[in-house]
Amino acid sequence: MAAHVVIVGGGFAGAGVARRLERLAPDARITLVSPDDHVLYLPLLPQVAAGVIPPRAATIALARRLRRTRTLPGRAVGVDPAARRVLVRTITGTREDLSYDHLVLAPGSVTKVMDIPGLREYGRGVKTLAEAAFLRDHVLEQLELAAATTDAAERERRCRFVVVGGGYAGVETAASLQLMTRALARRTRGLDPDLVRWHVVQHAPELMPGLGQRLSEDTHRVLTDRGVVVDLGTSLTGADDGSVTLSDGRRLETATLIWTAGVAPNPLMSRLDLPSTHGALDVGADLAAADHPEITALGDAASVPDLTNPGHTCPPTAQHATRQAPVAAANVAAALAGRPTSDYRHRDLGLVVDLGGTDAVAKPFGIDLAGLPAQVVTRGYHLWALRAPDAVARVATNWALHGVGGNNAVRLGFFTDTSGRLAEFEHTDDYLTPAEVRAG
Ligand SMILES: Cc1cc2nc3c(=O)[nH]c(=O)nc-3n(C[C@H](O)[C@H](O)[C@H](O)COP(=O)(O)OP(=O)(O)OC[C@H]3O[C@@H](n4cnc5c(N)ncnc54)[C@H](O)[C@@H]3O)c2cc1C
Repeated sequence: MAAHVVIVGGGFAGAGVARRLERLAPDARITLVSPDDHVLYLPLLPQVAAGVIPPRAATIALARRLRRTRTLPGRAVGVDPAARRVLVRTITGTREDLSYDHLVLAPGSVTKVMDIPGLREYGRGVKTLAEAAFLRDHVLEQLELAAATTDAAERERRCRFVVVGGGYAGVETAASLQLMTRALARRTRGLDPDLVRWHVVQHAPELMPGLGQRLSEDTHRVLTDRGVVVDLGTSLTGADDGSVTLSDGRRLETATLIWTAGVAPNPLMSRLDLPSTHGALDVGADLAAADHPEITALGDAASVPDLTNPGHTCPPTAQHATRQAPVAAANVAAALAGRPTSDYRHRDLGLVVDLGGTDAVAKPFGIDLAGLPAQVVTRGYHLWALRAPDAVARVATNWALHGVGGNNAVRLGFFTDTSGRLAEFEHTDDYLTPAEVRAG
């Protein structure tokens, strides 16, 4: 009988494995479990939140990438490695049990939530397409309500936006949304654009420490020149429905707390009863789990040794997830055929950070770039990394439309019944314990 390969997750890593495996293991039956029918290009989420591109432009349909893989729309909520079984809750809530000969785990990561009072209730994420679309509506709503109210204190509160996390996700989100709100406030009757205030709160002493001091300072300058308040060496200590409190004792009145202070591996991984590091499944350089050569893990959900940086593991980036996929697929095919596997090795190509308009910072191959040259590299990199020609055309066209026509700042109104909580959008409470999985 044909071997059954089950792939959990349809992101950069999982979809990449499925696509390659179709060719490398022509006799295998492949099932891909994912709640989404698309690969989400997460680096463009801040632009979705800011309306630079529409939500659909940040996606690549799985149906266009895969030919003979069976896709199962749902979420793997538990795995029993001993019985080689995956429990899936489909998007309609029914349960399916899948048996596998080889399992590929690539469910990515979720927003890392810390034990800060009010964070779970009032923090909003930028990790899923729905969160980005929700955030856009929420921010637009605040400006509308601010313009409509006669209460000066309420207007000020609604016009203040706080982003906690000064990594690339937080910086890009604050930078692109600040541009959107500034442009919108200028053309909204009854709203003083100077009232619109963005804050970036960063625990570390600099923004995006991985980019190096020079680009970090360039970013800081771009943001402060635009009026963004950057609080370094500061953290969030509490939040409620009308304010946030910071570690320096300040209390800021705000209706918007955007939380981007890190990611954590998908909760599924720490519930496997297999060795993990900070919640990511430990794998060897060949991406196989120790003592379980029939389990491969990659992307944000796996702790993969970085052979180019001994003693370290690969950081959770799209760059690594994308490049691990072909190695994982080749190793799954090799394992099925009883051939030796090979190791993953990739040297980081650098980072690109879009600050909106003509502002960006980038570090391709270790070279520091800022301003327009960095923006050319940044956008060029995204188009190259999207790969699928239809997605490239959609993103490039929307950039051009945005450049010419500006922001079509209208609320979609699809999220009126949503709490906006991180756990609701990211389904972090869905997972079963190993005992629950074994009990069936
Ligand atoms: C705002 C933002 C900006 C970023 N910018 C950059 C950047 O510029 N450069 C860069 O290199 N990286 C960037 N990253 C990081 C990058 O997006 C991730 O490292 C990358 O997406 C990881 O790929 P992955 O395939 O492991 O996970 P993902 O791309 O997250 O894919 C995981 C997939 O698994 C699915 N899934 C989740 N749970 C389950 C489950 N239980 N069962 C089945 N399927 C499941 C998800 O729906 C998704 O389809 C950014 C991230 C964010 C949030």
